[in-house]
Order: sequence, then structure tokens, then C-alpha cells
Amino acid sequence: MEITGPWTRAAAAAGLLKDGVARPTVFAQMSARAAEHGALNLGQGYPDDAPPQAVTEAAVAAIRRGQNQYPPGAGEAVLREAIAEHQATWYGLRWDPAREVLVSTGATEALAATILALVEPGDEVITLEPFYDQYAAMIALAGGVHRTVPLTTRTDGATGDLVLDVDEAELRAAFSERTRLVLVNTPHNPTGLMLWVGALQAIVEEASRHDALIVTDEVYEHLTFGPAHLPIATLPGAQDRTISISSAGKTFSVTGWKIGWITAREELLTAITGVKQWLTYSSGAPFQPAVAAGLRLPASAFHDLAAELRSRRDLLTDGLREIGFRVSVPEAGYFTVADASPLGEPDADALAERLPSEAGVVAIPLSAFYRDGAAGEASSYLRLAFCKSRSTIEQALEQLDTWAAPRR
Ligand code: PMP
Ligand code: GLN
Repeated sequence: MEITGPWTRAAAAAGLLKDGVARPTVFAQMSARAAEHGALNLGQGYPDDAPPQAVTEAAVAAIRRGQNQYPPGAGEAVLREAIAEHQATWYGLRWDPAREVLVSTGATEALAATILALVEPGDEVITLEPFYDQYAAMIALAGGVHRTVPLTTRTDGATGDLVLDVDEAELRAAFSERTRLVLVNTPHNPTGLMLWVGALQAIVEEASRHDALIVTDEVYEHLTFGPAHLPIATLPGAQDRTISISSAGKTFSVTGWKIGWITAREELLTAITGVKQWLTYSSGAPFQPAVAAGLRLPASAFHDLAAELRSRRDLLTDGLREIGFRVSVPEAGYFTVADASPLGEPDADALAERLPSEAGVVAIPLSAFYRDGAAGEASSYLRLAFCKSRSTIEQALEQLDTWAAPRR
């Protein structure tokens, strides 16, 4: 019997299968390699840190008091209210917690439900490239056509560092009458790039001109190392056509809790809820009041986390630069991109395969965030995570240094 279904068919049509079968995500694959070789895992983006104590305590208390059965499909009122408050306090965005906020099973489900609710077969969906791998999978499942805007790369004259950027003209050129959605990921995975007012304004203008919707993935919103995150929904004319998605995973170091959320105007949210209710119905009962407590922590708690992460970014990027990689210094997020070509390694796919056994370190090849064969000059780039403990980063740098010595 041939085992196929809508996903296999869609993935085959979009070229997302490997040898005819759905492969595990690159993150799962590389975490398995880390376990197999006892290697340090700078691959999958999850932190070594514990969540803020108030958040942990609130989850434990919720379990103890019996909050263990199905919560309402749209999310517990206490969390929807905390999300609305968070959007108002941090960004001045007003949403009605009863009608314009939906709790989801991580940003992953929010993205899936949004794309499945709003993309018709043949509709175009624009993303940057590289892009978070789930986007291509969900666009394919919906029968959409994935259009990408490649990030530009250059070397900084003064530091020799790698600089990634988005070209506004290319962004505008990606829009057409077939564009249904533009999926904006800022701060960006895998590069840590943040989009600023010029690029965001261009997206809003083009989306308005072509009557397209904007979906924004803001899961790294609080992990910024310089200027604060600028949500596209705050731009004039944007809020009504924007579906904003975020998650507790990164902000509170709880990637395994899978609590995310969406804010959007009622008509859009109703369509998305229609899909969400058949995917999971509802999400993580005892974690919802805990995330609500987290969202209400004082601003200093958010800033402290970002400051700590910034120091680890510096530790990793300074170390990689000394070892001989060409590094990018991201403005936000969990990851740095490092070019291995100065060390005589032009093929990051092959290198990522060998690194666990050769250096005891796991990294993700940046090609995993491109359509098949589209990585171009990024073929020698690795993504390395700095959301790990200082000792893990230091140890990984030491091992990479030993590995690189004969290559310098
Ligand atoms: N979007 C981006 C850009 C991500 O990096 C991730 C992974 N954390 C997700 C969405 C998925 O988030 P969640 O773990 O909340 O499902
Ligand atoms: N967002 C995480 C990363 O980019 C991984 C999430 C996952 O494993 N699906 O590493």
C-alpha cells in the first residue's frame, strides 16, 4: 500500500521530501546527532536557562490546584487579557481580549492555522530567504506558491564581519496581484536581523496596494540587543491587515511549553480559530496562567534576559571570529551566522555533518533555511546558537579552536 496523504502530496509537489519520505526537521536531526556523539548542541534553538521563578511557580500552582483539564479553545481569559495588556503596554496596540486574541499551541500552531485559514491554492506568500523552515512546509500544505526575497550579504569594511540586510526594492518587487500574504519574521530566524521602519513601511504600502494580508512572526520580540523591536502592526494603516504571532517559548525560556498567541481583527481571527479548533482544540491548561504571570513581569525582567543573552552573543561571536570564521553580529534572537569558507570549508552541509564527530559541536547549515539549492553564497554558512550556558559556549569555542588550528 502506498502511504500518502495531503501532506506527502503537497510536500512532494513543493520538493520538500527526501527520497520520497518526509524527513525529520533539521533541528530534530541535529539534536539527535548531538546526543549520538555527546556533542555540544549549538544547533536547535532552546535555552539552557530555567524560566523566571514566578513563571515556574505559577505553572506548578496551577497543576496543584487542578487546572489540568481542557481550557477554553480560545485560551484562558487571564492569558488573553495579559496578552492584550502586553501589546498595549509595550507597543501601544489595542486589541479586545475577548474577540481579537487567540491562544495557540506555540507559534508553530499559530502559523499553521493562519496559513491554512487564509491561503488558497495558487496564492502567493512572500517571505525573506533564508526563512524559518516551517513556512515553506505550511505554504506547501495550503497549496500556496512560496515567493522569497533573498537577504543581501556583504563584508563590513572596518571589522571584516558578515553583514546581512534586506533590500527594499527587492522586497517591493516580490509583490504582485497574486500576493495573498506576506510573512514578516522580525527579529529574524536564522540571522537575528531586525526590520526597521523603511522596510516595514514598504511592506505595508505594497500589501495595501495589492490588498494582501501581513502575518508577522515576532517570537524573538524581547530578545533584542540594541533598539527595541518594532511591530509592523504599529505602522499607520497596518493593524487591520496584520495578523501578529508570538510565543512564550523564547521570552520565558519555556520552549517545551508550547504556548503561543495571535492578535488580529475579529474577522481574521474567526477564520483562523476555525482551523485551530480542529488542529488541537485547546492548548496547555496549567501553562496559560503561568505565561500570563510572565507577561505581567516588570520590564526589567525582560531587559535582564536580553542583556544576559547579549553578553553570550558577544562571547560566541568574538570567539568564532578569533577562530577564523567570518561572523555576523546579530541585533536580536538566539543565533549567529558564521561563514566557514575562510577556514577552507566551502560546504556547510558537509561540515555540519562532520562537526559533531570532528569537533564535538553541533551547528545547523544555513542551507536548511533556503529552498532546495537556493543557498548560493550562504552554502558555506553555519547557524550557531548562543542561548546556551556560558560554560557550554566556552567549551564549544575551545573545541572548535582545536579543530580549526590546522586549517588556519
Ligand atoms: N517562528 C520562529 C521564527 C521560530 O524560531 C520558532 C521556533 N522557536 C517558532 C516560530 C516556533 O515557535 P513555538 O516554539 O512557540 O512553536
Ligand atoms: N525554533 C527553533 C530553532 O530555530 C527550533 C524549533 C524546532 O525544533 N521546531 O532552532
